Amino acid sequence: MTDSTARLQEKLRLLAVSYAEKLPDKINQIEQMWGQLQIEWDEEILQTLQRMVHSLTGSGKIFGFAELSGVARVLEESLKGMVKSKTPANEQQCVQIQKQIEDLRQAASHASPIQREISAPAKTTAAAAGFRGLKQVFVAEDDCEVAQELALQLRHFGYEVRVFNQLDEFRLAVKQAPDVIILMDIEFHEDRLAGIKAMEEIQQERAMPAPVIFISAYDDLASRLGAVRAGSVAYFTKPVNPGELIDQLDALTSSQPQQPFRVLIVDDDAAMLAYHSAVLEQAGMLVSAVNKPMEIMGALLEFDPDLVLMDMYMPECDGIELAKVIRQLGGFVGVPIVYLSAEKDFNKQFEAVSFGGDDFLVKPIGPQHLVSAITSRIQRTRLLRSFMVRDSLTGLLNHTSIKDQLGREVARAHRLKTPLAFAMIDIDFFKNVNDSYGHAAGDRVIKSLARLLKQRLRETDIVGRYGGEEFAVIMTGTDGPSAVKVLDSIRDAFSRLIHLSEGKEFSVNLSCGIADIVHFGDAIKIGDAADKALYQAKQAGRNQVVLAQA
Ligand code: GH3
Ligand code: MG
Ligand code: MG
Repeated sequence: MTDSTARLQEKLRLLAVSYAEKLPDKINQIEQMWGQLQIEWDEEILQTLQRMVHSLTGSGKIFGFAELSGVARVLEESLKGMVKSKTPANEQQCVQIQKQIEDLRQAASHASPIQREISAPAKTTAAAAGFRGLKQVFVAEDDCEVAQELALQLRHFGYEVRVFNQLDEFRLAVKQAPDVIILMDIEFHEDRLAGIKAMEEIQQERAMPAPVIFISAYDDLASRLGAVRAGSVAYFTKPVNPGELIDQLDALTSSQPQQPFRVLIVDDDAAMLAYHSAVLEQAGMLVSAVNKPMEIMGALLEFDPDLVLMDMYMPECDGIELAKVIRQLGGFVGVPIVYLSAEKDFNKQFEAVSFGGDDFLVKPIGPQHLVSAITSRIQRTRLLRSFMVRDSLTGLLNHTSIKDQLGREVARAHRLKTPLAFAMIDIDFFKNVNDSYGHAAGDRVIKSLARLLKQRLRETDIVGRYGGEEFAVIMTGTDGPSAVKVLDSIRDAFSRLIHLSEGKEFSVNLSCGIADIVHFGDAIKIGDAADKALYQAKQAGRNQVVLAQA
């Protein structure tokens, strides 16, 4: 048993013990309510009673009290019938329900949880971190020319590359190098699927699968399926677009730690809430647990969740109503809402999902299943969101986002009375680069500048791609003269980069215009001033930084 599995099991065991301790109290409450109903019929009390029994059905099962859960379900059905018919129980029904409550008490008195085999789900963020920092790439490709070209491109972006034209040689090398990314051709002269077969064997011998990217002349489902089964993280068809391949490698090895997933759980049942929180926290997620549905607004705004996990039936308001409210709150239209409920009725599930929910998970749900359902939802949402605000070539903020950010940061700087500088950067004679070395080489130059900006600027600086070969940087807490110093050193470093295209070396310069908040008060004025300063830099001979004067 792994450490985290043991920890999770212990946590859940303690939760089950405390749950069992509270059972007699709960059943007393149920009996009391039933007594009240017999004195005076009241639909609201009946509904509360049904909800309490419903919660026993679900939570009983989750904590391993199968018999209790079964008995509760029978009682729940009886009560449901009454809620539906809206008529007080007749004598026969009263006897029946009294008996079912007695059964429930019996089941609770000798309830001992059945220890279920629970294995802790993998840490979600740790899994993503597995390939972080890898810089070595093995290329297995029997076409020497293709292999050398790929290697050249990858080296240009800082990857160490070894090329293998023979699978045997590759197999030996990969055994001695556990931490590499593999770029694998699928077809070799000996077999149309030799690459996939070789990878399958290699993966079987490893404790952790190796990250492998397949490249293939084929785009049929069978090849793609084979690739997935051999552990592929990506699949490229030939001719491979080097830009896309490098993006994929960068994403895989990015040193940016992924922020932990943030999940808001809403459940009126405290035991369930504790159980699901424990499972998700063990998987490395941040959890905000809301026990009273009416308190969800504050939690949403403060916690800013990636996903909301919601119980369906709660007092005061139900999950569907809450989902509608969340959808009408500005800024939360896109946050996935997943219902977690013991509801097995397909029509009810369908209704829930059609009113603003994204998915429906049925309780009880195993830890592994819960974590993977939530992980895939959040990853998808984060990816989609990044498409909306990021530029695909460089991963920097796109034009709209950087302009939005400038507005926000200027307002903030005014409020906090802190300095701020805005820089516009444009590559010099970039048309010549495209004309002399080709568009692909031009793209690599753009990416190299993006990378340099990310490396050299502070975490708090905001970098965007403004258009083709133009960039914009918002430097918070920085005045004009300091911004000039920083950007001039970036200008110098960029001009020293050696770019390669088809064996020919070349270098490129940039020009930059800067404006600061002291001399130009609002976002529009700062933007215009930086643009004018950039124009002056171009006029004055390029390869320089100009600070706008008021
Ligand atoms: P200047 O020094 O005055 O800025 O000269 P320039 O040649 O850089 O100026 P201009 O703005 O006229 O040319 C920019 C060129 O950048 C034109 C366009 O074809 C090219 N370009 C724009 N977007 C991209 C891109 O995404 N990739 C590549 N490779 N080229 C691009
Ligand atoms: Mg230019
Ligand atoms: Mg331009």
